[in-house]
Amino acid sequence: MALVDSQPTESDLRSVSQGFEGSHPEEVLRWTFATFGDSVALASSFGGASGAVLLDIAAKINPSVKVFYLDTDFLFPETHALIQKTVERYGITPVAYRPELTPEEQAALHGQALWTQDPDRCCELRKVEPNAHALAGLDAWITGIRRDQGPTRSEVGIVEWDHKFKLVKVNPVAHWSKQQLWSYIFTNKVPYNALLDQGYQSIGCTNCTRPTGAGEDERAGRWSGRDKVECGLHA
Ligand code: SF4
Repeated sequence: MALVDSQPTESDLRSVSQGFEGSHPEEVLRWTFATFGDSVALASSFGGASGAVLLDIAAKINPSVKVFYLDTDFLFPETHALIQKTVERYGITPVAYRPELTPEEQAALHGQALWTQDPDRCCELRKVEPNAHALAGLDAWITGIRRDQGPTRSEVGIVEWDHKFKLVKVNPVAHWSKQQLWSYIFTNKVPYNALLDQGYQSIGCTNCTRPTGAGEDERAGRWSGRDKVECGLHA
């Protein structure tokens, strides 16, 4: 599948995306690297199962894949441990993008525990702005979002235009289920975040993440007790 020119239309992307329905994520990633070369990077939170699978497939077909993550200063020790394991397992050094403000500077400027007062603003400062820096100059990015993670993600394409960050967004596991991910993880002995064995299903900042109970959707443990369900990167 080829894009018609270097600035694909949304219709081009929809058509490519539809062509990948039913494809293995490896096929999507091979197309992504062939199409965008060095102008694409893989974003990982080093939290959920999706990112672990994506990284494993990507590293096997493109050992020099660019990988980045957002170090909000509030990541769990288990998340940092997985990043270290990634370095050892794949020989890839994920690049950290950080907020401009330290937690102390943020508290001085915007008030203590901004995540309790205005979590959207906190995510804007600690995630969205650093993500924009990470994507500057790229033509595409790769994410691990999936349709079965909750209602806000139920219609994501495998390939789509990212209106917020203004580049192509590739979601190679958008159409995969949680069961498919875990089957891949166990078959391929993929390293994953240890918190996933402790009741957590989606892992972000320590301040805003809790384990989930039976029957709760995958992202129910994020910003628990609030209307907020997304950090602003994907919706
Ligand atoms: S997840 Fe919570 S602590 Fe992290 S950036 Fe968003 S509001 Fe702030």
